[in-house]
Parts: sequence; structure tokens; C-alpha cells
Amino acid sequence: MPHVIEPAASARAKCRGCGERIGAGELRFGESLPNPFAEGETHHWYHLECGAMKRPEPLLEALSAHAESVPDSERLAALARGGVEHPRVARTSGAERDPSGRAQCRHCRQKIEKGAWRIPLVFWEDGRFSPAGFVHVPCTGAYFGTTDVVARLKRFSPGLTDADLQGIQAELLKPSPALGTTETE
Ligand SMILES: [Zn+2]
Ligand SMILES: [Zn+2]
Repeated sequence: MPHVIEPAASARAKCRGCGERIGAGELRFGESLPNPFAEGETHHWYHLECGAMKRPEPLLEALSAHAESVPDSERLAALARGGVEHPRVARTSGAERDPSGRAQCRHCRQKIEKGAWRIPLVFWEDGRFSPAGFVHVPCTGAYFGTTDVVARLKRFSPGLTDADLQGIQAELLKPSPALGTTETE
């Protein structure tokens, strides 16, 4: 059973990427995976953009078979290729202010200051996304290999305001705290 892109027959399926429902009639991406409970395979459903961000390789496979029926296939393919080039960006799961001051940045290993912006990470394994800690926004470039992440932050934290995004953009330009602590030159 191949990966598919098709209109959703109903609004029952939730997107595995963002957790929101996929509207009836909306084009959706189905990743084909072995069914853990029975013989055969099953599809995991995503909004097209969520699939491009979180499952770039299977999304690109599906897109190459269904490109003619997807209006913005070029944009989705570019988004997915960004995730193939920098695989860690597919772990991005939005942005939030650190609530406690106790979490550690996965890149620089320093404590994230209470109230500072952080990017929650998820790891995909065997068909499931599991929470996998956080990175500081200033560590974005060093950890992900790119600072082109703002569309992903907005997608998975739709409550971010323009002012929030400006604050995050400003922090993206700051040097990673890892510089100077782990590098001697
Ligand atoms: Zn989604
Ligand atoms: Zn850090």
C-alpha cells in the first residue's frame, strides 16, 4: 500500500502532526505504515503542510505520485526538501515560553531561563512522536543547521502573535550560549 494524497472523505481523522482535525474534502497526506495490531498496513493522516514539515521523505514520495492534483505542490516540496536537507527541523514542534527555569537546552546543555522562548522537540520512531526536550531559540541555527524555522513554529503553535514572532526572530540572531563554553578557539 503506497503513501497517498487524497481528499478526506469525512472530518473524523486528526492530523498526527498538529493534532487538529482534517476538514472533509481537504487534501490530506496518508503515510503507509505496518499495522501494529493486525496483518497488513495502515495510513497515518496529516494535513499536507504538517506532513511536509514532520514527515518530509514519505511526503515527497506521495507528492511525486500525486503532484498534478495538489495545487501548491511546489511549495510543499520545497518545505519537505528543507527537512530532508536538515533532518532535525522535522523535530520542531512550535515555540513557547519556558514556564519553570528548570529545563535544559538539548544543544548547549544550559538551563533555559524562565520566560525565555524555547522550541519543544519531538522524535518520530515506529509511527509515534515522543517528546524529546527543548532547545533555546539562540541555539536554533547550531542545533537544526538552519534558522529558517519560523513557519514551523507558527504552524505548531498557532497562538503565537506577531509580537511573539518578532521576539523570536530577534533571539534567532543571538549567538548560541554554547559558543565560548565548549569551543576554545
Ligand atoms: Zn496538521
Ligand atoms: Zn541552548
